[in-house]
Amino acid sequence: MNKIIFCKKCLYSNLHPLGLTFDEKGVCSGCNFHNEKNTLDWSKRLTDIEKLVKPYRSKKNNYDCIVPVTGSNDSYYTLHVVKNVLKLHPLVVSYNNYFNTPLGIKNLSNLRIKFDVDIIFRNTNPLSVKKIVKTTLRKIGSVYWHSIAGQTVLPVQTAVNYKIPLIFWGAHEGMEQVGMFSHLNNIEMTRRYRKDHHLMGLEAEDLISHDDTLSEDEIFQYIYPSDEKINSIGIRGLYLGNYFRWDPKKQHEQMIKRYDYKTSNFNRTFDNYDYTSCYVYMDLHDKIKLYKHGFSKVTDHACREIRHQRISRNEALKLVKKYELKNIKFLKLFCNWLGIKEDGINFALNQFRNKKHWKETSPNTWKFKGLSTLMKLEKNDKKIRKYVFINNSSLNLGQNDNYVTFGKGFDNQ
Ligand SMILES: [Zn+2]
Repeated sequence: MNKIIFCKKCLYSNLHPLGLTFDEKGVCSGCNFHNEKNTLDWSKRLTDIEKLVKPYRSKKNNYDCIVPVTGSNDSYYTLHVVKNVLKLHPLVVSYNNYFNTPLGIKNLSNLRIKFDVDIIFRNTNPLSVKKIVKTTLRKIGSVYWHSIAGQTVLPVQTAVNYKIPLIFWGAHEGMEQVGMFSHLNNIEMTRRYRKDHHLMGLEAEDLISHDDTLSEDEIFQYIYPSDEKINSIGIRGLYLGNYFRWDPKKQHEQMIKRYDYKTSNFNRTFDNYDYTSCYVYMDLHDKIKLYKHGFSKVTDHACREIRHQRISRNEALKLVKKYELKNIKFLKLFCNWLGIKEDGINFALNQFRNKKHWKETSPNTWKFKGLSTLMKLEKNDKKIRKYVFINNSSLNLGQNDNYVTFGKGFDNQ
């Protein structure tokens, strides 16, 4: 095995699936990308994007742009910037991944009213969705492919159908985590990045060749529009992270204060703000990430917080060790929805445990030897400094845990 190298500042290593490079001081490209945030003239970046969007402003009675939302993550902040800073008139779109928490539905419902926007929901035929999930689970060990595919294709399809050429995304994951590009490259959305990184190399069309139980009728909702269509309308997808100093913790806290964004505790991370709309992402999907890559979302959260200088590397490592092996809570819900047995899914997922990070000590007993186990805690640093993520609600709002699969909303007070 090639030598594992860890960044001197954060907890990422050269095994990061998005690819990471190191400078001569042993600092990773993601940390250096972050440092760039301290050197940029952000008021100039704002002027740049204002100029850029000017030709796209609709004259009247039409939408200027598309904003995809999920009811958590960047949804509120992206919409806030588009509506209140750039003063645009967006059409909001949301792909229903069927794993909705009541809290996520509440956040979406609140967002629609607070931002005074029109919203299009796509509720793909659930039977097709379940077949796709079974296929991606078996072939690539993913229960979340359809969700990412749907969220990333719907805005582009809507842009084509409505002839609205501008789409806004929040931050670019490959830039924020591993510094794939500089802010100054003003990178925009591409078909290629979506396929290679979001979709783990597997386009919707590839699912058919991978599995003869799926037909074209069942995957057409996930097919990316042709270059010809995209170019004829001049569709562009901009990342706001290139133009605004991206800081999800701070941004979420502004959204809580200003728009009553609801948050929740999680079992497997200390960040209460991301993925509150989904029963699967921070649960089963996160466990699979640990199986495959030897680290989970809590490491992403911890690295981000180190870079914003809110915690030390040692405090971050403590948080990772505290959370990454915690049990998941919602496997039964997932199995009931998909119609499979828990034993079946556990068996399927064990096939995707990366032997670099897991050792089978006896049949069906696995020892974790992932990335955090290769890093040592400093002895003289016992405490994690007082560090607060606001928790103002819960995933199920007092209801029994259950996916909110269709159409159920909340009255807004
Ligand atoms: Zn780093």
